[in-house]
Amino acid sequence: MRCIYLDNNATTPLLPAVWEAMRPYLTEAFGNPASAHTAGRQARRALEDARETIAACLGADADEVIFTSGATEANNLALFGLCGEPPGHLLASPIEHPSVAEPLFKLAENGFDLELLPVDRQGRVHAESLLERLRPDTRLVAVMLANHETGTVQPIRILRESLAGRARFHCDATQAAGKVPVHFHYLGVDALALSAHKFHGPKGIGALLLRRGVKLRPRTWGGHQQHGRRPGTEPVALAVGFACALDCACREMNDRLAHVRRLRERFLAQLQVNAAPIVLNGSDDGIPHTMNAAFPGTKADLMLMNLDLAGVACSTGSACSSGSLLPSPVLQAMSVSDEVLHSAMRFSLSPLLTVDDIDEAARRVAAVVSRLRRG
Ligand code: PMP
Repeated sequence: MRCIYLDNNATTPLLPAVWEAMRPYLTEAFGNPASAHTAGRQARRALEDARETIAACLGADADEVIFTSGATEANNLALFGLCGEPPGHLLASPIEHPSVAEPLFKLAENGFDLELLPVDRQGRVHAESLLERLRPDTRLVAVMLANHETGTVQPIRILRESLAGRARFHCDATQAAGKVPVHFHYLGVDALALSAHKFHGPKGIGALLLRRGVKLRPRTWGGHQQHGRRPGTEPVALAVGFACALDCACREMNDRLAHVRRLRERFLAQLQVNAAPIVLNGSDDGIPHTMNAAFPGTKADLMLMNLDLAGVACSTGSACSSGSLLPSPVLQAMSVSDEVLHSAMRFSLSPLLTVDDIDEAARRVAAVVSRLRRG
């Protein structure tokens, strides 16, 4: 039986063109970009070209791109690196990914006063609630761009404008970059995190974009690479793959988005007929790649197992928390009912899926839902 992969928010397959772009930098062009000889200079050129491509795709300057091992590291680097010493006040949305939430909890243990902003039923933060809570000692605000569980997109530019430079602003754009247009300078945030494996790039590389002139305390020491902000030999092949995947994503953005939107509408329409009743969580104008749907009368953990057996890979929440059977903090913050909380599934789409995949997945999901509802 063919497996239909609807867990693209967890990770995505590498595009063949990305692998082809990377391969020479793992074999013949293997130099260390810090070396002064020809092999080193060749690697340095590839690395800096990749940095420039990534910056151009994201509306940033090349010297604002700091390569990291992924978004978890980029989020940690920003949060620990921008807050300074305690005491101080931190504001964050309650729907952040654990790679933002947990560093914030650590900062709170270390003496910072952490306050979570409310979200509405669609999971959106409003500028008024940010302004109401802003204090003279607020150091940092952390609000993500697109939510990993619901796809809800936050009004980052409006939130940042309302802040008027009174605190640093970090934005985790991991589920938006490479899927919808992201423009660092337009958003105007101080720092922004992303990860290549979410848009058909390699695992093990991401970036923190850091606005020029913003001071960042490093988390690691021992090398001069990346101006000491994230030292260590740069993974040239991964950077080249990252740049290639992001460049393809940006050049094909409109077509990919239109295709994913069509797939989502089709999937939803079939489920609304054949797996009714369903409850959608999130907002209508979120990223179309994510569909969070609850099937009252079922249990998410049983659904996940049965769908896996039926050849549909999806998730009950973020991949990191699935398996733990803990209710999703994202849906809890949105005040959904217990019934919805315990029967919510996340289906996440990619442009590589076909209409046939989606129709077959919808049939399999509907069959599992009706079997579970019958008990
Ligand atoms: N932030 C968000 C919103 C995510 O969805 C993820 C991946 N699940 C991360 C951060 C962490 O990314 P990485 O796997 O690159 O560390």
